[in-house]
Amino acid sequence: MKIDIVTIFPEFFCGPLDHGITRRAREAGLATIEVHDLRAFARDRHKTVDDRPFGGGEGMVLKPEPIFECIEGLKVASREGRNESRESVVLLSAQGKRFDQSVANELAALERIVLICGRYEGIDERVGQYLADRELSIGDYVLSGGELGAAVIVDCVTRLIPGAVGNQASTQQESFTTSSRAHNGEGPSSTCTSGGLLDYPHYTRPADFRGMEVPEVLASGNHEEIRRWRRRSALEKTLRNRPDLLERAELSDEDRELLGER
Ligand code: SAM
Repeated sequence: MKIDIVTIFPEFFCGPLDHGITRRAREAGLATIEVHDLRAFARDRHKTVDDRPFGGGEGMVLKPEPIFECIEGLKVASREGRNESRESVVLLSAQGKRFDQSVANELAALERIVLICGRYEGIDERVGQYLADRELSIGDYVLSGGELGAAVIVDCVTRLIPGAVGNQASTQQESFTTSSRAHNGEGPSSTCTSGGLLDYPHYTRPADFRGMEVPEVLASGNHEEIRRWRRRSALEKTLRNRPDLLERAELSDEDRELLGER
């Protein structure tokens, strides 16, 4: 996968992309990530990339020309000719569709993603209308720039590329993962796929830490009991923290039974 990031702060990405799975994926050649300085596409000697908003009002707006020229220079197909099952130009925006695990899965299946980071009051609307094919928000809050959002998307998508995570099965048993991706028939029988719920709780040694004990069942060696405990815990945690996910999830008869056991 090739990922291009367009930003006025290219140095921002030196930290986030140089650690852990993202770094390993780059080093293994699974992902190529290039950061492009938008100011390199400014036309004046002051490297101006923003201007005042038409109609008046607060703040400045990123101009369309440098962004269009930068993206055109990346040899991405024009929006009309773009094969959206292969490549996507994404505009980071608080007004976008919410980025979640299912969007991450969609992006991870592509060959190329271009991420455009806004700043100031935002980006000239024509970028979203005529250049980008997706507008994504990482949550219902306003950030001062799209860079953090782009880093979130790169991290989340990169770990879904086959081979990026040492044990690929672990990405199939995590929070929010729906059954289409989770059931490959190879998952360990002692764990459960989340089926769109939150993950079950994890513990490691010591079994007794300052009097806080690991649930006994996890050391029992009874795989069926462990599986049921994990599923029940995932259901309980989802009910407690994200009841909205529980409403959308397809619950099995066993799930209903486990919820009833509380
Ligand atoms: N005026 C905009 C609004 O009210 O929707 C906010 C602009 S924000 C200060 C500047 C830039 O930060 C945006 O152009 C966008 O790229 C990025 N940004 C802000 N919030 C975001 C979010 N929740 N998700 C993704 N990007 C965001």
